[in-house]
Formats: sequence, C-alpha cells, structure tokens
Amino acid sequence: MSHHWGYSKHNGPEHWHVDFPIANGERQSPVDINTSAVKYDSTLKPLRLCYDRPTSRRIINNGHSFNVEFDDSQNKAELKDGPLDSTYRLVQFHFHWGSSDGQGSEHTVNKVKYAAELHLVHWNTKYGDFGKAAQQPDGLAVLGVFLKIGSAKPGLQKVLDILDSIKTKGKSIEFPNFDPGVLLPESLDYWTYPGSLTTPPLLESVIWIVLKEPITVSSEQMSKFRKLNFSAEDEPEELMVDNWRPTQPLRSRQIRASFK
Ligand SMILES: [Zn+2]
Repeated sequence: MSHHWGYSKHNGPEHWHVDFPIANGERQSPVDINTSAVKYDSTLKPLRLCYDRPTSRRIINNGHSFNVEFDDSQNKAELKDGPLDSTYRLVQFHFHWGSSDGQGSEHTVNKVKYAAELHLVHWNTKYGDFGKAAQQPDGLAVLGVFLKIGSAKPGLQKVLDILDSIKTKGKSIEFPNFDPGVLLPESLDYWTYPGSLTTPPLLESVIWIVLKEPITVSSEQMSKFRKLNFSAEDEPEELMVDNWRPTQPLRSRQIRASFK
C-alpha cells in the first residue's frame, strides 16, 4: 500500500489485508452479535470495573480517532472478573463513529448499527506491558459500549469540549482528572467473544466484552465528533467520520452472554 492505512476509498478496511494479512484471520473483529445464536453462560462472572483512581494524562488526535490516554504504570484503573482470569489495566479509550447518526458502531446487534462505539482498552498485567500483552491471545480486554441517540450524556461533554484543541492529526493536549466511569451505562450485562484489534495491526489478542445496554448521547453531541479531521493541519481538510471497520466473519467462534 502506497498510503498509510485509513478509512478512505484508497486506504480503507478493504485494503488492510495487503499490509496486514491477518485481516482475513480466524478471530477478527468486529462481528455482528446475532442474539439468537448467542449462548447464555452461567459460569460468566459479573464484571468488576475498579476505576477508583484513574489517571488520565492526555488526549491525542492520532489521525484515525482520538485517544484519551491513562497512566498505566500502576494499578489505578482495572478490569477483572467477567470472562477474565487475570487483572487488566486501562491504557486508553477512544471511539468509532459515523458520518450520520445511522451508522458508526463497529459491532452490530442483529445487523443493527449504533451511532458510535466506545472502546476502553485494557492489557493483561501478567504480561508486564501493553506491547507484550498485544502479542498474546489473552493479552488485551476491550470493553465496548454502544452510543445511541437520545438525551445528552453529561459525562461525555468534558471530552467533546476539548476536541476543538485537537482538531487535526498529531495534536494533543493535557487532559487530567477524567473519570471514564461516567461513560458507562447502568447495567454491566455483556456479550463476550475472542477477537482482534479493529485497526491495523489487527492483532488477534483481544477478549471482547461488549455491553448490552447502550449509553445515550444527543445528536448535537454526536455532531462534535464529526468536526475532527483525519488530516494534519498543513493538509487539505478531511473530516474524521466513518472511522469504523465493517463486521468480519464469526467463523467457528461462539459469542457468550452473561445474562439470559
Ligand atoms: Zn476501537
């Protein structure tokens, strides 16, 4: 590929397999969650989100999305139990969204797309750091939360209000004291399956935990995401929209539910 990967016609998801052949692998993400084929698993524990002392550091436009990064040098925000048999530490969260409210999520439920999807990325502390963990089949745990249009999510506003300062690719700004717990729905009922990163390098190292209950955001809030740019300051403006990968074949995988 002559261009770096992205979401445009010339470098989008249909091209990623050229540089990243695992794009056609056995456990790629996202997938459609067909609720009639999901299996309730009574052995799945409730999720434990221990976001007691999360330390957000910075927010950065990386040209694909924006990441809110956390200090992961100590256990300050952890995910455990659920389908996990180890402790996973929060390193960053980001979103995927559409050019309109009718699309934007990566996972779909019975083929229905949500307006956006939040990904809270955690790494398995038994592997020592994110880079090593990302090479292991159980190295990462990503908590996915759907965003649907409704009333505004007040907790999201602090993030949206700072996006003006990171409009273009490569921009970042300090973003301390943000508690990601404010972005979660009431219920932590979830679906889980083994999958991959949804952006190159598409590593098959993710235990996906997708929450059943979406959070609601207003249409005005959604429109703030779409003012960001894929492009850098010195390039022609390309709006950051439709930064989602389409669903991939489930193949032999079974999606399990923590709820009936
Ligand atoms: Zn993501």
